[in-house]
Amino acid sequence: MSKYIFVTGGVVSSVGKGIAVASIGTLLKSRQITVSVQKLDPYLNVDPGTMSPYQHGEVFVTQDGAETDLDLGNYERFIDISLTADSNVTSGQIYNTVIGRERRGDFLGGTIQVVPHVTNEIKSRFRRLAEQSKADVVLVEVGGTVGDIEGQPFLEAIRQMRKDVGRENVLYVHVTLLPYLRTTQELKTKPTQHSVNELRRMGIQPDIIICRSDEPMPESLRDKISLFCDVEREAVIPLPTISTVYEVPIFLEDVGLGKLIVDKLGIQALPADMTGWRDMVASLKEPREAVNIALVGKYVELKDAYYSVREALQHAAMFHKRRLNIMWIPSEALEKEGGENLLRMAQGIIVPGGFGVRGIEGMIKAANYARRSKVPYLGLCLGMQVMVIEFARDVLKQPRANSSEFDPETPCPVIDLMPGQRSVTDKGKTMRLGNYACCLPVGTHAAQAYGEDLVYERHRHRYELNNEYRRKLEEAGLVFSGLSPDGELVEVCEIAGHPWMVACQFHPEFGSRPHRPHPLFRDFIGMAKDVLREGAQPSLPLNA
Ligand code: GLN
Repeated sequence: MSKYIFVTGGVVSSVGKGIAVASIGTLLKSRQITVSVQKLDPYLNVDPGTMSPYQHGEVFVTQDGAETDLDLGNYERFIDISLTADSNVTSGQIYNTVIGRERRGDFLGGTIQVVPHVTNEIKSRFRRLAEQSKADVVLVEVGGTVGDIEGQPFLEAIRQMRKDVGRENVLYVHVTLLPYLRTTQELKTKPTQHSVNELRRMGIQPDIIICRSDEPMPESLRDKISLFCDVEREAVIPLPTISTVYEVPIFLEDVGLGKLIVDKLGIQALPADMTGWRDMVASLKEPREAVNIALVGKYVELKDAYYSVREALQHAAMFHKRRLNIMWIPSEALEKEGGENLLRMAQGIIVPGGFGVRGIEGMIKAANYARRSKVPYLGLCLGMQVMVIEFARDVLKQPRANSSEFDPETPCPVIDLMPGQRSVTDKGKTMRLGNYACCLPVGTHAAQAYGEDLVYERHRHRYELNNEYRRKLEEAGLVFSGLSPDGELVEVCEIAGHPWMVACQFHPEFGSRPHRPHPLFRDFIGMAKDVLREGAQPSLPLNA
């Protein structure tokens, strides 16, 4: 039977609870304990698929096509597992299911209530994940902070679990913030005391408290929190802000969290082997030459909108022993006169995914610049569509070429809906989502990167390259280097004669791992790192 670790948040959100949960997973996995993870989101949306990136950050897509919270990306990257739709539960899904059952007559005669009907549905999701994953430990992160109105049924459900599966099989971890007061130069524990009180009011006594703080936590605060919050001293775990998130698992291991968890859950585990993580972090800290990558997107003010893209670039830069420097460029800025100057120092240009017409012309300019200046380019989903539009405009001499998403009246819809999709009017879960197969003909940059001729990649889009233009585009020098097995859908394309201009209709960023950069990102950075831009000094060999 699986054991459960429930992680709640106190004081404020955005203190890195997701990273803490992902890191706990790493500590368990490094002891050969199998783990699965679930994120509970209190909002009423069924999934974040219809939310603006400004509201929610990136939408992470699982292999089975669920649109989920970006924390799932951290779980996958840190624990190196592939999660499914069962790993993201929202209040919207829970209520949807309960009300659907009520309408079907499942509870005929009964009054439907939060306790027990909603809480039972929540608990059934924990058990379902445990049964399906057969993991030794199921880690559950409760989104938001203790005290949120929507979060109450989740807290009640996790409280009941201790009674349902036995005390020895459940652990409650509370991640909280110790704010720093500049005037008195100290970290304050009072908000933590309050949030633990709030948790206790719900019947949950935390076993472990992880204290996030911007400054190192003095030992005396450990005693204070231990006394006021009634946890053992060694169960008060400091977690100061550190330079890279990949260092968090190592920090937590070194302060004893891994051992504490296995002891408390009574798991007989092997000693932790964190060698891979330690090597990675040590090498990250070495001084390194930068690689400058321009990320041209619509939502760059909110970096979380491109979370997995940023991480995938980071993994590839680590592989090539470079320091990643992302130049965040709002695509609209490129639309202005002389906007191209913003790309002058870029050794590589990346255009990630996106929806809607705003900023599209700037992205097209970026693709044009990359093609003409022979700067390495990686297009992701929308980034591929933009590359095709630019090629049709400039090489096929079709100045109004576009996607019908951005210009429904375009005379040259090189990107268009598939015939069967036109009647779909709902927005939620109506895209091509999740893993699809892609065949890679030999002799292309894509095939060379993957070293395989059949791969599976995650999708999240509606529009496709329009087959009516395929022959013309191909004759003009666009190479279709990835196709669906039936040959009907273009999955990857690249520009013939360009050093490395490759774009894909899918989202390779979701599959990248710290120790295993995605092949397309790896080769993109591999090319970019040797590009010399204006003002950059070539590093001369010492004996020259
Ligand atoms: N908006 C485009 C489409 O729906 C691209 C989507 C994306 O980049 N994820 O096809």
